Amino acid sequence: MLVSTETKKEPTIIEVNGIRIGDKNQIAIIAGPCAIESEELMDEVASKLSTMGVKILRGGAFKPRTDPYSFQGLGKEGLEIIRNSADKYGMAVATEILDVRDIELVEQKADILQVGARNMQNFGLLKELGAIKKPILLKRGLSATIEELLLAAEYIVSHGNPEVILCERGIRTFEKETRSTLALATVPLIKELSHLPIIVDPSHATDKKSLIEPMTKAAIACGADGVIIEVHANPEKALSDAQQQLKPEEFKQMLENLKPIANAVGKTF
Ligand code: PEP
Ligand code: MN
Repeated sequence: MLVSTETKKEPTIIEVNGIRIGDKNQIAIIAGPCAIESEELMDEVASKLSTMGVKILRGGAFKPRTDPYSFQGLGKEGLEIIRNSADKYGMAVATEILDVRDIELVEQKADILQVGARNMQNFGLLKELGAIKKPILLKRGLSATIEELLLAAEYIVSHGNPEVILCERGIRTFEKETRSTLALATVPLIKELSHLPIIVDPSHATDKKSLIEPMTKAAIACGADGVIIEVHANPEKALSDAQQQLKPEEFKQMLENLKPIANAVGKTF
C-alpha cells in the first residue's frame, strides 16, 4: 500500500499557507464555523481567528445534513464568501466537497478539499480527487474501520494525489451522550501504520461544547498532527451544529490552555 509506512518511512508533510501538516514539531489548527452562513459571519470569524494566528479557515458551503429539510449550505455563493474572507485575512480555505460534479468549482476556491465522514467510501469521488493538485482532508466514516480509512486514502493516493490528511472524527457506537465516540487510539495507531498526517475533530466527535477542550488536549497529547474545530461568532444562532461551536473568545482561551500540552510533546502552533 502506498499509504503504508512499509512503503515510505518518512512522514508526509503537507504544506498549506506556511503550516506544515505532519511535521513532528507542529500542530496544525484549522478553525471556523460549521457552515458558511453569510459574509458577515465569515468576516467576523476570519478576522478574529487570524489575530489568534490561525492560518487555515474552515466552513462548509455544501453541507451533508441528515435531514433534507435543514440548511444545506450556500453552495457556490458560500465558496466565494469563504475565499474572500480568507484572502482578506491571509488565511487558507478548507471546505467540503460533497459531489463529483462540484470538483472544479471547489478546487478553484479551496486550498484543502474535505471529504466528509459520509463520503469516505464514495469511491468515484475519491478517484477523481486523486487527479487534483490540492490536499484532501479525508474524514473517517461513521462506521468505518481504521483499515477502511487507510484504503480510502489509498484510492486518492493511487490515483495520483499524495497529499492526504486523515481525520479521526469519532465513530458511531451505542453511546448516546456524545454524538460519536472519539476513538483516539486511532492517532498513535495511524502513526504506526501510515506516513500520512492525522488530525482530530473533537467538535463533531463529541457534539458537546464542554468536551471540546479536554478532547483537544488529549488529541495533542497522543500525537495528533492537528485539530479542526468549529468556531462561530454567535453559536446559539448557528444554522447547524449550534450546540458544539465555540465563541471566538472561548476558542482563544482554549488555545492558551493547549500550549503547555503542545510543549510537553515537543510541538508548537
Ligand atoms: C464537517 O466537518 O463539516 C462535517 C460535516 O464533519 P463530518 O463529515 O465529520 O461529520
Ligand atoms: Mn459541523
